Amino acid sequence: MSVRTILWFRQDLRLTDNPALRRACELGQIVPVYILDDIASGNWKMGGASRVWLHHSLAALNESLAGQLVLLQGAASEIVPALATALDADHVVWNRCYEPWRIRRDAEIKKALQSQGVGVESFNGSLLWEPWTVSKKDGTPYKVFTPFFRKGCAAAAPPRQPLKQPRNIDCSDPKAITSTLRKTGDDKLFVRSLDELALLPDIAWHYKLLEHWQIGEKVALGKIKSFVKESLADYKQRRDFPAEGLGSRLSPHLHFGEVSPHQVWASAVQAPPLADESNREHFLSELGWREFSHHLLYHWPHIPDKPFKEKYAAFPWRDDREGFATWCRGNTGFPIIDAGMRELWQTGFMHNRVRMIVASFLVKNQLIPWQQGESWFWDCLMDADLAANSASWQWVAGSGADAAPYFRIFNPVTQSEKFDAEGEYITKYCPELAALPKKFIHKPWEASDDVLEQAGVVLGKDYPLPILDLKETRERALAANKSISV
Ligand code: FAD
Repeated sequence: MSVRTILWFRQDLRLTDNPALRRACELGQIVPVYILDDIASGNWKMGGASRVWLHHSLAALNESLAGQLVLLQGAASEIVPALATALDADHVVWNRCYEPWRIRRDAEIKKALQSQGVGVESFNGSLLWEPWTVSKKDGTPYKVFTPFFRKGCAAAAPPRQPLKQPRNIDCSDPKAITSTLRKTGDDKLFVRSLDELALLPDIAWHYKLLEHWQIGEKVALGKIKSFVKESLADYKQRRDFPAEGLGSRLSPHLHFGEVSPHQVWASAVQAPPLADESNREHFLSELGWREFSHHLLYHWPHIPDKPFKEKYAAFPWRDDREGFATWCRGNTGFPIIDAGMRELWQTGFMHNRVRMIVASFLVKNQLIPWQQGESWFWDCLMDADLAANSASWQWVAGSGADAAPYFRIFNPVTQSEKFDAEGEYITKYCPELAALPKKFIHKPWEASDDVLEQAGVVLGKDYPLPILDLKETRERALAANKSISV
């Protein structure tokens, strides 16, 4: 059997604007493959919520490919070269990924394939500006977002126009592929069904999550359109209000590559003139933050584990397992924190403003290491992304590049009064507080016994008492920071 090209799908689970797919189709017949590699990812094996997303995203991709996607599982560094040999492939093509473990692994695979005489081509499918294309005048990478985006990205080549889906995607018959691979007797080339990848949990906690999402390229393309039409015009002013949901909620689709940033960028740029153009600019700059996170991760690959600013390695964090569990479960007694953590648990998502508030509470008021929050988010977020998650946690913790200064400690009560004044977001996830007057919904502990009784709330029973004193813990955080600043 003569097979020409293996198209290795990774974080580009789409047919439109897919440079590797386009190239593969130019080369002739393709074998589209996805490999679940939990070996190379090491400590950053995909979390629970992401696996649920991946299951459905692969199902959607397979449907778009008329059931021709070949699924494999194991160490891609062993599978890809063996697959190329077994299928007598001339080429392997893929779109690049930027996690440090993937960069290492892909370089190894490329070398192995080349030594077998197989052509390897890789493309940029996931970033507007790949990390090595943007640098300061002296050639060093940027550490501050504004010059990175306004100068560095602006001076680099502009984002390309999205590519159309190839007209003719000629896939090899998956049955023939499966049978050829079976004949090799090589376990690692054993073709799996989607269920055999076992991405869904044994205990069915994920159904609730799925009520909030539709997954796959077609849905994601529709979401871009409706966001640009309905929400872009007010994005800057309204995006910070969690009850209004004016964010695009494209982050998991972007993470898994169901759409590319080029498609999102082009749609936003090409939308008709807005009454206030700063809304468009602001949205584009958020896409810029996604680029910046990848830029940081590429140039400082230790940031998922260790502080960007070295002095934070000596920060006097507390070991507080109970406090951490209380935060995870959304039982801190601070309504905006609890609403955020429950939103995460129930939907696999959390609004950006609330992410910042809950993260600040964990690392500053609770003095719990940011890595613990990062890993909880990693497991619970549908959009868990190594670059964005680690850069954002370090940003909040003050230890990151261009981070919020450590002394900027969000007060969860004032944040909540400002961004959820009517308590709509809070009561969606903490319905036990719904009957409290607006005044107390952000700080139930200040309500009198009468008010609480009328609202049917017994603090410590129906809703927790606050687990800490905001003023005291603020002072403690400032002192902790001072201890490493001298
Ligand atoms: P929009 O406001 O519609 O923005 C459009 C797109 O821009 C997003 O989909 C996202 O891809 C990108 N983007 C927006 N803000 C940021 C940002 N600050 N950093 C990087 N990219 C951004 N985002 C993730 O995609 N994955 C994560 O694991 C992640 N973890 C985070 C952890 C913390 C502690 C914080 C504070 C933020 C985190 N973010 C993460 C960034 C941000 O919260 C989400 O990207 C955003 O909430 C997604 O919602 P949206 O799609 O409606 O965003």
